[in-house]
Formats: sequence, C-alpha cells, structure tokens
Amino acid sequence: MKTKTKLNLGVGSLFILIILLSLVSVYNINALKSDSDNILKANYNSLLYCRNILTDIEHISVYNLKNIEDNIKKQEANITEQGEEKATKQLRLNLNALKENQKDSSLYKKIKLDLYQIMELNMQAIQRKSTIAQSTADNAVFWIVFTGSSCFLIAFVLLINLPASIANPIKELSESIKQIANKNYSERVSFEGHSEFKELANSFNTMAEKLEEYNNSNLAKLMMAMKRTETIIDNIHDPVIGLDENLMIIFANEQASKICGINKQNMIGSLVIDLASKNDLINNLIKDLMIGELPKSKKVTPIKIINDNKENYYEKETIHISITPTGEKSKRLVGHVILLRNVTVYKEMDAAKTNFIATVSHEFKTPISSIKMSLNLLENKKIGTLNQEQEQLVTSINDDINRLLKITGELLNMTQAESGNIQLSIIPTDPIEFINYSINANKTSAEQKNILIKSELPMNIYKVMADGEKSAWVLTNLISNAIRYSHENSEIVIQMTNETDKVKISVTDKGQGIATKHKEKIFDRYYRVPGSKKEGTGLGLSISKEFMEAQGGSISVNTELGIGSTFEITFNISLLV
Ligand code: ADP
Repeated sequence: MKTKTKLNLGVGSLFILIILLSLVSVYNINALKSDSDNILKANYNSLLYCRNILTDIEHISVYNLKNIEDNIKKQEANITEQGEEKATKQLRLNLNALKENQKDSSLYKKIKLDLYQIMELNMQAIQRKSTIAQSTADNAVFWIVFTGSSCFLIAFVLLINLPASIANPIKELSESIKQIANKNYSERVSFEGHSEFKELANSFNTMAEKLEEYNNSNLAKLMMAMKRTETIIDNIHDPVIGLDENLMIIFANEQASKICGINKQNMIGSLVIDLASKNDLINNLIKDLMIGELPKSKKVTPIKIINDNKENYYEKETIHISITPTGEKSKRLVGHVILLRNVTVYKEMDAAKTNFIATVSHEFKTPISSIKMSLNLLENKKIGTLNQEQEQLVTSINDDINRLLKITGELLNMTQAESGNIQLSIIPTDPIEFINYSINANKTSAEQKNILIKSELPMNIYKVMADGEKSAWVLTNLISNAIRYSHENSEIVIQMTNETDKVKISVTDKGQGIATKHKEKIFDRYYRVPGSKKEGTGLGLSISKEFMEAQGGSISVNTELGIGSTFEITFNISLLV
C-alpha cells in the first residue's frame, strides 16, 4: 500500500471515528432528553394539576373555583395514560356537582378519590418511564463507551503502526547507506509490501550492485597494475628497494634481495632500520636517509659489494617520492626508492683507460726526455753552430717538447689521482721553498708577457704539513694559469697569510676572470671554460684539487669575469717548528 494512501486511510478513519463517536453521543443524549421530557410533560404536570385541585377544594371560594376549573382543563388536555381519561371524566362530573352543591361533603371525598386515582396512574407511569429512561441511559453509556473504546483502540493501533511503517524503512535505508559509505558494497535492502519503498529499495540495490561491480573491476585493474609494476621491478637488473614514509620496505626485487642476502619475503613489510641493525649493506644504504639528503654536488663513491664471488661496484641513488594528495595543495612525502646502478663494467673500463693512459704517458716520457737532451746538445755550440733558421726551429721544437712533457706529466698525475695511488710524503715543509720554486719555474713565461710577479709574505713563516714536490706542482700550475689567462704588462700577486692553524697562499691575477656558472666546474677533470683560446688539457686544477685534499688542505677560487681571479690553497700548520 502506498504511504500516501496509508496516511489518508489512517487520518480518514480517525476522522470517521470522531464523527461516529459524536453521532452516537448525540443520539443517546437525545433519547435521554425525550424520555425525561416525556415524564415531565405527560405525568409530572398531571401530578401538579391534581395537587393544585386538592389544595383548592379544601377552601372553596370563587377564586378557588376558577383555579380548579383551569387545572381540570389542563388535566383534560394532558391525558396520557390508560384509565386516566376515565378518571378525569369522573373528576369533571364530581367537580361540576360540587359547584352546584358545595355542601355535599361526600363529593369532596369522591373528588379526592378521583384525584388520587389520577395521581396514582401518573405515579405508576413515572415509575415505568423512569425504568425506561434508566435503560436508555444504560444503553447510551454502553454505546458511548463501546464506540469510544473502539475509537481509542483503532487510534492506538494507528499510532503504533503508522509512524513505524514509515520510519522503519527510512531507518533501514539510512543504515544501508552507511554500509555503502563504509565500502560494504554487498549491502542490499528489501521492503516487502511497501510499494514506494520497494521502488526505492530496487533503485538502492541497483546502485549498490553497480558500485560493487565498479569496485571489483577497479580492484582487478589495481591488482593487475600492481602485478605489472612488481614484474617490471623484478625484471630490472639493478637492485631496487622501495620504502614507505615510515621507512618500511614495500617492495624489493630479486637483485636487491640477492645483494643484501635476505629473502625477499623477509624484506617486504620489515622496517628497514630493524634490518640495518643486522645487515651492514642495508645500514650503509640508508645512512643518507637517516641524516637527510646529501648535497647534490658531493661526489658519491661507488659501493663495493661482493656478488657471485666477484667484486661489483654500485652507484647508489636515493629518490624521495612526494605526491600531492587529492584535494590538497602541498606535496607530501610518501616514500623513498633506493636504486643501485651496477657500474662495475664502467669502473673496469675506466681502470683500463687509466692504466692505458698511465702506460702511454710513462712510455712517452723516455723518448721525449731523450729528444729534449738531443735538443740541448744541438743548442750547444761546441758540437757545431746553427744558422738562424735552424736555431728558430730548435727553439720551437723545444717549446713543443716542454708542452708534451707538461701534458704527459699531467696525465701521469691524473692517473695517480684516479687510481687513488697518489704517492705523498707529507712532512713539515717551509712554504717559502715551493713558493720560490714555482715563481722561478714561471719566470721565463712571465717575462715573455712582461708580467710582474710580486710576493707578499708575513713576518712569521710557519712550516706546513705538505708534500713539497706536489705543493710546488700545484703552485706552479696556479701561477702558470695566472700568466696564461692574464693580459700582457699586468701583475700577479702571491700572498701568504697565517691563520690559527692554517697557512693560506693565494695567487691573484688581473686577467679575464671566470663566469659564475663555470666557477665550480673548473675543478672537474677535463673541464675547460668554453671558448678558452689557450691550449690546455683541463686537468691542472682537478689534479691540484686532488693533491691539496690528499695533503689535508684545500683549494678554492674567488673570481669575477673581466676583473681577475684569486686562487687560494690552504695548508695545515706543522706543530713541529
Ligand atoms: P687548463 O689546462 O685548461 O688550463 P686547468 O684545469 O688548469 O686546465 O683550468 C681549467 C680552466 O679554468 C681553464 O681552461 C680556464 O678556462 C680556467 N682558468 C684556470 N685558471 C684561470 C685563471 N687564472 N684565469 C682565468 N681562467 C682560468
């Protein structure tokens, strides 16, 4: 049944019940009223007339006779009971006789008897009628109570059932909606016998079914996507480990499990910190995660891992994964991926290259030195004089030989630095020695460009912890660069300053300077500022850096394009004087 019909029926029947109750009450009250009217008019009045006549005949007078006449007329007009007419006629006859002969005392007696008879008849009638009225009243009470109770019962049943029949399906539906909101898509509702709610239930069930279908298909897609990603990660030949924001391992491929020596199943779901406490490699891998990200410029040395009884080298990269959650504006860190790139092959190729360069440079050195000796002999006038053209040729060959010697020297130094085989003898050294050596080594080339080399030294000279030969090489290279990248007729200042536990030596030129974007890169191997017209290998500064760091010192530059540059090297002061 429709809710509207149900409501109409409920309210309508209540309305009908109220009308029915009112009708029953009105009918019964009317019946009671007519009963009492009946008694009042028909019998009570007759009693009243008879009593008046009785009173009046006691003291007969003209006035009383008139009253008696009025009352007898009223009584004659109010005959209602059987036998009353006869008694009234008898009364009329006796009263008429009394009017004629008032002294006949027997008439009084007869009149009184007539009156008593009429009164008796009416009294009996009153008695009878009040019994009827009583039963009418009882009937009225019965019907009113009956109808009232029925109304109450029906209203009570409606009160209990009607709101519940509307509210219950709504409650059930809202519970089901909550279930759907909690992703319990298998939830269904059924409202039997409620036509509108049945329709609603059908619509709801269709919606839930579609949601379930959608959810299942999405789940299947997600599972498929996850499987695909897992397979891709497993097929990557390099080890990959994925961590969530709480540093729990969420994925790891076979390669990662192999190099860590931990079963993949035991890795996934474990906190990486727990594994790190038992596994040195994992501990090493998460070091930067524990202390925060490494600065980008910092050189990362490949990690050596023994794998399949062979030394393997891996370059580690930690990628921090951030996403912008739906509805949010800022990014949130959701995890990290540790990638280990196997660089063993490149490392081996690099070692082979370094070896090759070292061998070639070394092999070049002997013939170049013997050519240089032969040139020196040629320059010697004792073995014969050269004409001017020959002298010029010898000088130019000498220049080229010097350049070749410089290059082979640089290449040899570079191979030493690359293979980590820098042979150092760090001892307390007087810096004046290698400063003077470097100035002298560059004297000729400075003179050629008419460049003045000035040195500014402090009063107190402290010995520094250095390898004299390597430091001289570095300073010579810095002065040589200053001369090469300076204009003619300028000056170069070599300044030494003492600090608490360090000695700084700087080489300042007023040359072309270096643009900011190249400033940091000039210390990289083979890096030359693009467009540089001077000859060079791009190795000098990188070797200088390796030499300075190997001695526990440092090298830095302060430069401005078009103004000039200051290269500064720092040494530790020797505690032994
Ligand atoms: P190179 O053999 O090219 O001089 P270096 O490693 O010594 O190699 O220097 C690297 C680059 O740095 C050079 O190519 C040059 O462009 C720049 N450079 C070095 N010293 C100076 C300087 N004093 N003034 C300007 N540029 C310089």
